[in-house]
Parts: sequence; structure tokens; C-alpha cells
Amino acid sequence: MASPRLLRTDAVVLRRHDLGETDRIVTLYTSAYGKLRAVAKGIRRPTSKLGGHLELFTHSRLMLARGRNLDVITQVETVSSFLGLREDLWRTGLAYYVAELIDRLTEERAENPALFDLLIATFERLASARRPDQVVRLFEMQAVGLLGYRPELRDCVLCRKPLEPVGNAFSIPNGGVLCSICRTADPQATPLTTNGLKVLRLYQEGNWNLASRLHLSPELVSELEHVCTGYATSVADSQLKSANFVASLRREGLGRDASPASTNKPV
Ligand SMILES: [Zn+2]
Repeated sequence: MASPRLLRTDAVVLRRHDLGETDRIVTLYTSAYGKLRAVAKGIRRPTSKLGGHLELFTHSRLMLARGRNLDVITQVETVSSFLGLREDLWRTGLAYYVAELIDRLTEERAENPALFDLLIATFERLASARRPDQVVRLFEMQAVGLLGYRPELRDCVLCRKPLEPVGNAFSIPNGGVLCSICRTADPQATPLTTNGLKVLRLYQEGNWNLASRLHLSPELVSELEHVCTGYATSVADSQLKSANFVASLRREGLGRDASPASTNKPV
């Protein structure tokens, strides 16, 4: 089926850079098509109708015309500019991190409406929450889960026995918690307190209502950051490597058709 010529979708601006004298290329995370790059023509002219609607982190509703290389933004209106994100440097910094993580975790045109919804909820919370860092921890756990890298937090990821409350550690390469016996398998694993494991499970369930009301000690805050950020950025790096690997295979002429490996020419 041919793709439609015009696309209408909600989007969040993840990244942007200037092109030529008056244009700008924006990287968008859209509700309908996943990540897209598009051109905003003439946006840097003072008279542009697009101006102001495509600032970083803005949630907009837009119309795109399919181009040969990049889509072209033809209409745009702002749904929310998340003002609270811009008025506080710490919140702005966290929003940059969230946008960059989404960009690195995803491939272009791989739709994931739940990830879009998570991004909107994250920016809404980041704009006003009492603990913006905890908004980001929940985002990290949810985002990796929605992309198929949900860490194991109930049973030991190696021996599969249900976890006891004490003696556990989180192993980034194993993608989950190791029990007190298996934790020697990864000397780099982060020791997990009982409270740490409980809060991680709340994040994984997406329970912001409950998570936002917890009073966390500085030690617990740093434990959660170590686990959540360590795991999410490790997934992002492996994503990038795999994406680069696939791209290099494609450059070698592989993956052009669906013929099974056995029909490839012998080496
Ligand atoms: Zn075990």
C-alpha cells in the first residue's frame, strides 16, 4: 500500500539544527510514526507561521508532506510548551537528557504510541513535580520496558528463584537482579537495598502516584540513579551499536531481500 502524501500527527521536538539561511531540521518523536526528521522551511524568518511552535520539548500537532529525503512541516500548532521546564535550569537539563535518551533508544519510523504517551507524561511531570530527578528515574525504567528491555525485578535473573528481600544486586549486563548467591557472577553489580528494590518495582509499574509521595534518603536516591541511568544508557549504547552494525551490513548489500541465509553465495 502506498504511504499517504500528507501525515498528521502529534509530536515532541527532541532536537533541532539550522539548515541553510532560514530553514531548520527538527528531530521529532511522533505519536503515529515514532521518530522522524523533518524540515521546517523558512522558520528562522521573523514572519514564519511555524516560529514558536517548534521549540525544543514542545508538544505540537502538525501536518507533514512526504519529501524525497526528509518530510516537510506544512502546518503546526502548539499543544503544550511545558513552561515549567524552561524556567528552571535543572528541569531543563533533565529534559535534555530525556530527549537525548529517546533519540538514542529509538530508530526512525518505528512507531510506539505508548512511548510517546510516556514522553508527554514525563515532560508534564518534569515541569512541576517536587522531585524532578525521580520523574526521570521512572521514565528510564518505563522507556526500556516499552522497547523490550524490561529488567527482571521479581526473580533472580540467573537462577530464576523468587528474590528474598536482602542480599540482592542489580546487574546491568544481565538485565536484572541477582540473588545473594548468584551476585558473585557480576562483581560490578550494584548492591540493592530492600527499599531500592521496592522503589524500582514502583517505577517499573509506572506508579508515579505512589512513587512521587516517597521520601527518599540521599543514599537511596543515588542507588536508584546508579541502577536506572546505568541500565538505560547501557541499553541505548547497545541499541546504537546494533543499529550501526545493521547499517554496515546493509551497506555491504545484505538484507535487501528475504532470501534465507543458506542461499547466500558460499564463502
Ligand atoms: Zn540466583
